[in-house]
Amino acid sequence: MRFDRVVAVDWSAAGRPLTGSDSIWIAQARGAAVESWNPPTRAEAEARLRALMDEALGAGERVLIGADFAFGFPAEFAQALTGQAEALAVWDWLASRVTDDARNRNNRFAVASEMNRALPGLGPFWFRPAGLDLPEVPLKGRDRHGHGLAEMRVTDAGAPGAQSVWKLGGAGSVGSQVLTGLPVLWRLREGFAGRVAVWPFERIAGADVVMAEIFPSLLREEIAAVMPSRRGKPKRHDWPVKDAVQVRMSALALARMGDGGEALLAVPDPSAPLAEEGWILGVGAEARLRAAAAEVGTVALPPYPASEEAGAIAAQSRSDDPAPERPPLTPPRLRNDCFAMPQGVDWVPVDDALARLRAALVPITDAEEIAVAAAGGRVLAADVAARRSNPPHANAAVDGFGFAHAALAGDGPYELPLVTGRAAAGQPLDGPLPPGAAVRILTGAVLPEGVDTVVLEEDCASDGARVAFDGPVKRGANTRRAGEDVAAGAKVLGAGRRLTPADLALLSALGVGRVTVLRRLRVAVLSTGDELLAEPVAEAPPHRIFDANRPMLLEVARRWDHVPVDLGCAPDNPAEIARRLDRGAREADVILTSGGASAGDEDHVSRLLRERAHLSSWRIALKPGRPLALALWPGAGGGVPVIGLPGNPVAALVCTLIFGRPALSLLSGAGWVAPLGVTVPAAFEKRKKPGRREYLRARLDAQGAAEVFASEGSGRISGLSWAEGLVELPDGAATIRPGDPVRYLPFAGLGLG
Ligand code: AMP
Ligand code: MG
Repeated sequence: MRFDRVVAVDWSAAGRPLTGSDSIWIAQARGAAVESWNPPTRAEAEARLRALMDEALGAGERVLIGADFAFGFPAEFAQALTGQAEALAVWDWLASRVTDDARNRNNRFAVASEMNRALPGLGPFWFRPAGLDLPEVPLKGRDRHGHGLAEMRVTDAGAPGAQSVWKLGGAGSVGSQVLTGLPVLWRLREGFAGRVAVWPFERIAGADVVMAEIFPSLLREEIAAVMPSRRGKPKRHDWPVKDAVQVRMSALALARMGDGGEALLAVPDPSAPLAEEGWILGVGAEARLRAAAAEVGTVALPPYPASEEAGAIAAQSRSDDPAPERPPLTPPRLRNDCFAMPQGVDWVPVDDALARLRAALVPITDAEEIAVAAAGGRVLAADVAARRSNPPHANAAVDGFGFAHAALAGDGPYELPLVTGRAAAGQPLDGPLPPGAAVRILTGAVLPEGVDTVVLEEDCASDGARVAFDGPVKRGANTRRAGEDVAAGAKVLGAGRRLTPADLALLSALGVGRVTVLRRLRVAVLSTGDELLAEPVAEAPPHRIFDANRPMLLEVARRWDHVPVDLGCAPDNPAEIARRLDRGAREADVILTSGGASAGDEDHVSRLLRERAHLSSWRIALKPGRPLALALWPGAGGGVPVIGLPGNPVAALVCTLIFGRPALSLLSGAGWVAPLGVTVPAAFEKRKKPGRREYLRARLDAQGAAEVFASEGSGRISGLSWAEGLVELPDGAATIRPGDPVRYLPFAGLGLG
């Protein structure tokens, strides 16, 4: 077994985007070839690693990923924190608590504080930055006491210069890197479930990806040997960045070992508490690793940067000091990293794009309690149980006569005396029915004591004093049992349910007057384009058009029970668009933009999002549609997702219905929704090429067959208005003749009824 590729990662816990020295560097070696990257944020690094994994797996290759931070903590910590003596339990624990936004702002000190609180004494984590009010994280290491844990792991003895994982700040510290790095590795491991093994915790045989802890300083001398001498030379800029050389050297050295480092995975010291502490790859086998590194040579040096980039590198701060803590108040709406398509993916099939979108979004959680009568269209935040049975008491299902079945003797016909008075809905009989008698009873009336059976009025003869009817009569006939619909205490509607009119009936019937619902999702809509005029005016120059998308998309949001937020119409000017997106991030939970979403020169939205908001832009194999962009605009709660729709109104609506509807539904807490499709005969003829899915503007004719709009021109807004739904043609080739079955998605089934 061998590795075809080796990836080495030098991590950073920087509290803001950073490149150059002390930032994140990633190198990938394949044989003697090496590439390296310097992502400015952890989110981008995660996306890069995911892309590299995708690429390797797609090529059927095995990959070793080495990361330069501790995979485990000193023995007994995992057990004390999670109840399991396993490092991976700590990974999982951290992944569910550490938040780290698109600008590298994270809550690692708050999480360290939580861990310290879970352990006795004070510590073990320390080095709180001045100004943070977290008394459980001491400023100084010597202030700690009673936590009972070792300072270093067994393997650290073989890594000269390694620092304690408990130390969160200061020169060379690794603690914060561990807290921000392990959640990333955990997500990557989860995202490629079953194909990744983390060494030395998991069985590596058969795994396509192996993650291992590395310590590039093991190669300190080999690295020093290739660094160009600065003596006597003017120090013009920061090249080569040592971290870049370290990852390139590490990846190349491991890749050179023939087995790509596999032999090193044999653990030298089996007596160490490996399951909790882990082991540094190469400790115990230093000679072999260093011999391989010694042969690498100057390939380990990164390419010499172009002059303007060099200036930028020199200007980067070297500081890795923690930025002030700003714990997000609400979780981010978007897991931005999993939205990116793997590198090299060009046209993305609709279903793949939907799956990515679904995996990337995170619902809102803020809830409020409101009256059921006002709760139509709102999403339940919690399950609801019946407070009362329906019906609460046994009652009559018809108008007729009630009696005790036991009073009937023989096969009938029967004649029973009637009591005076009657039982009606809301007007129960006063007192029990005497044995052998019958009572006039109306639909919905509570069955009087002594009545268990009712005969339909039409089956009876009565003179007011007696009633006669024929048999056979079944016991319990024409009655409703108490709780036969719903019993008190039963769960009737689940969290995530968007309440329908019928739900309001059900809840009211069951005595539920108030419900806890999620607040409404606020959906901001922004149109972009120099050609746009915000609204129709009498005198408009021919080069201007009226904004058609915004009124449409705001109304769509309203129909879907979200709160529309109008961000207006912006020219293709990045500063102006940014200003409106900032407003959107303050006032909404998600932003829909239209226009400027492809990669052309004028496409300012894409450019802006690429620069400031982790844009993932896909070309979707979809007609009409093409580009769809997803990004995370910086703002409250870790950022607000931006869905960048095409400008063309037909494409904008189709993309909104196909991608926006499930995405917004998920964000709103109501879960992912699929469109309702029905199979109907085609009333048209069409030949379609393979390779992309197509949606045609359509409606049903008088015979129930789908006719399509005469022109497929994507600028024909009249066709959108004419249509009452879409015909969906599959990704593959299709030849459709009149009468052939096609899938029709009525607008009503897309929430636009
Ligand atoms: P874009 O995606 O910006 O390249 O725009 C594609 C086409 O859609 C162009 O013809 C635009 O003029 C048109 N368009 C963009 N935004 C709107 C809008 N809000 N209303 C009407 N047409 C638009
Ligand atoms: Mg435009």
